[in-house]
Amino acid sequence: MTLEILTLASGSSGNCALVHANDGQERVVIALDCGIAQRNARNLAQDAGFLFTHVDAVLLTHHHGDHSGNIVATAARAKAPLYAHPDAMGHNQKTSAGEVARRQVEVRPIADRLSFSVGPLEITPIRVPHDGDPCFGFVFDLNGQRAAYFTDLGSTDALIGSTLQGVSALVLEFNHDINMLRNGPYPRDLQNRVAGPSGHLSNAQAAGFLAQHAPASLRELGLAHLSRHNNTPELALAAARAGLRQAGLNAVVTQACPILRVARFVATDVAQASPNNKPTLH
Ligand SMILES: [Zn+2]
Ligand SMILES: [Zn+2]
Repeated sequence: MTLEILTLASGSSGNCALVHANDGQERVVIALDCGIAQRNARNLAQDAGFLFTHVDAVLLTHHHGDHSGNIVATAARAKAPLYAHPDAMGHNQKTSAGEVARRQVEVRPIADRLSFSVGPLEITPIRVPHDGDPCFGFVFDLNGQRAAYFTDLGSTDALIGSTLQGVSALVLEFNHDINMLRNGPYPRDLQNRVAGPSGHLSNAQAAGFLAQHAPASLRELGLAHLSRHNNTPELALAAARAGLRQAGLNAVVTQACPILRVARFVATDVAQASPNNKPTLH
């Protein structure tokens, strides 16, 4: 059994990921956002061993162009349904009703915490606060294995509680270092927007969340949507590792998602993990 998230591109220049699930009988591959050129997505997917033109479904987090840019084209080429909130569509020509109709794409609506299935994979959208509202992160379930993907959120409030319980592979936004943002090239109003409650998670916010609320089941962590101007992979990794240490999760494999290269995050069956990896109850 396999459940994994592969980020192909991450950051404000474009986001795209694949979710691969195989329960031993049926295999599904889902494209999650496509804000990069189709050719790049095809090549990167091929690097990871997948055919981007043959995905079984397409999933959209929110309407910002770095996520939605080629989402309709991706669904059309794969002849796959596009799962998106209705209000996340139609913000530009590429996701307009006319384009959806012309390309004969079937849009299936998603809603907060309303799970749906694609083959053996169960998908739960979780609405998060972001200035590209409505915006969703996703929890993926395959026979007891759980993975989750959350980028573009101003606060972690929606993740507190049982949302990430049992998640072993997590992709989480580490957008900016607050000092780099405040002393960086962005104008003040944009700085405020990014740092605000409907903006993006800072290293400190994401790491603080992990320190307090990281699930004991966590094994692999991807740091996503790093700002090119206001962050470095080194700062994000240092913050994440400090947060995980505070949570007592020193063995979590952590990597920063590259801007345009494949990174793989594999879920494990936590219930069957080796005794020294046993999740602690608290
Ligand atoms: Zn974004
Ligand atoms: Zn956004």
